[in-house]
Amino acid sequence: MTTPTIELKPTSHPLSDAEREAILASPGFGRHFTDNMVTVRWTEGRGWHDAQLVPYAPLSMDPANMTLHYAQTIFEGLKAYRQADGTVATFRPEANAERFQTSARRIAMPEVPVDLFIAACDALVQQDKAWVPSTGEASLYLRPFMIAAEVGLGVKPANEYLFIVIASPAGAYFPGGVKPVSVWLSEEYVRAVKGGTGAAKTGGNYAASLVAQAEAAQHGCDQVVWLDAVEHRWIEEMGGMNLYFVYAQEDGSRKIVTPELTGSLLPGITRDSLLKIARDLGYEAVEGRISTEDWKRDNENGTLLEVFACGTAAVITPVGSVKSARHHWTQGDGEPGEVTMKLRRALLDLQTGQAPDPHGWMHPL
Ligand code: PMP
Repeated sequence: MTTPTIELKPTSHPLSDAEREAILASPGFGRHFTDNMVTVRWTEGRGWHDAQLVPYAPLSMDPANMTLHYAQTIFEGLKAYRQADGTVATFRPEANAERFQTSARRIAMPEVPVDLFIAACDALVQQDKAWVPSTGEASLYLRPFMIAAEVGLGVKPANEYLFIVIASPAGAYFPGGVKPVSVWLSEEYVRAVKGGTGAAKTGGNYAASLVAQAEAAQHGCDQVVWLDAVEHRWIEEMGGMNLYFVYAQEDGSRKIVTPELTGSLLPGITRDSLLKIARDLGYEAVEGRISTEDWKRDNENGTLLEVFACGTAAVITPVGSVKSARHHWTQGDGEPGEVTMKLRRALLDLQTGQAPDPHGWMHPL
């Protein structure tokens, strides 16, 4: 089956420059959407077809659409950044395309070919380029997703799907300067188990996380830290971000450690990029296992200097304090750490074209 080319049928009524500029002045996150979207249909026996860039609009859906009942749905998140020279580029779209394929396989959906995934993102960014912010750390967030399109209440993989890409301008995550977050160790609820869907970016994982997020908020915390589902002590990840731990080594150097991919956490693209960027900057960077007891002890004995979370939406977010049912401690001195901020700057400089791109990660439009 051949990959379809995307037919361009953009809106003839885009928002005016003034309306768009008003939104871009304070976009928030995920609240406003650009003028267009891309839709591609898959039908059993026919494959991918009817790839179109069309005006952004509500979907019309039968109440018995399978997605609404059995959650056969996956998504991705990546960003287009305004470059130092004024052009626009996305960051590692092929990595998102490959993760989208992994997610699809786990949820028994057809895989979107990598070139179709990238072509759909490119077409939308190209068409709605004026929506890519030029200010500071703002960017255009792309949300590719796939839903079942078959109508029926039988539990089975659908015979028809819709792959859609929408885009939403995103403001700086920390408009007033980087602020550490407080985290809640979720010892009661678990997010995912080995053999489950934790490594896939599927809607159900996020639905299952909401009650723990509410529990975190009740305890005055910003975010949940998920632990493994068997022993409830090995650190996995946060609600929408992976975690990194910065250790002091005896020779005075720094080592950064991120929880290994056990099959129950999401393999973040920022996580993967930081393993490489950290090594480029001369740090030892490894994957490992860290328990809640390790975290508390090494923070107390001063070997664990910094902890931060990382992901596409929030880039790098320092962790300032940790709470669980039994414990409460300040991470380090509670302020953003030196290594955290150095990695954050290096990643943002690379994404915005202010630093060289030794790994060829930027995808210019
Ligand atoms: N973990 C979860 C559960 C997420 O939803 C995300 C966001 N995609 C991440 C980690 C970070 O992944 P990435 O760096 O690819 O954005």
